[in-house]
Amino acid sequence: MSENPTESGRTYFIGDLHLTDERPEINGRFFHFIEYIAQGADALYILGDLFEYWIGDDDLGTAIASVTSSKLSALQKSGTAIYFMHGNRDFLIADKYARLSGMTLIQDPALISLYGQPTLLMHGDTLCTDDHAYQSYRKRIRRPWAQSMLLALPVAVRKRLGEMARSGSESAKRDKPEEIMDVNAEEVACVLRTYGYPRLIHGHTHRPARHEHEIDGRVCERWVLPDWYQSGGYIVCDHRECRLEGI
Ligand code: MN
Repeated sequence: MSENPTESGRTYFIGDLHLTDERPEINGRFFHFIEYIAQGADALYILGDLFEYWIGDDDLGTAIASVTSSKLSALQKSGTAIYFMHGNRDFLIADKYARLSGMTLIQDPALISLYGQPTLLMHGDTLCTDDHAYQSYRKRIRRPWAQSMLLALPVAVRKRLGEMARSGSESAKRDKPEEIMDVNAEEVACVLRTYGYPRLIHGHTHRPARHEHEIDGRVCERWVLPDWYQSGGYIVCDHRECRLEGI
């Protein structure tokens, strides 16, 4: 995560791919991205929800899990550092799968120096503080003992739970007002202040954009990643600027 001194370097950010064997077309776009776009980059940051859901590193039987790890590992071996931050769908990804894929696990939030500019990376779900029901669920499910309990269940049971969580979150999303599903402006301000007014890059809300926030007289950029449900895209940064690109 160190600053790269070269002026030609570039770093990619993706998230909310929600990869599953059920959407082969999107998987194909992702593999194209890895093989032809991210190739040669200094680093690739995956900011959560790489998979539609993840029930533990002991279930690597799906095609998408194994093809993804071999593509990522090839990219890493060719010289691109890969960092992975958990999303709300794949927070059970652990050391085994990370190692297999050549990814380094990073904490949420992570403050990095991106070509000299302080940049804060988050999945984005912790910014959606208006969604009280989700925040209390998150607090419970992310406790270490809750995760150990989950992982102790048989794979078949976890698969059913994964499907239930997936359809539960789809229907909850439909029932909640739009603004609850976006980030809370005060929480964004609080986070930017806490981390010294960095640039912020996050996903989760599926509302790709570049925002500017003026906080205590300082202007901070906030970049939101696109999701990959219909098409897909990424944010690419070099020593001068960031850009949001579709794929
Ligand atoms: Mn998410």
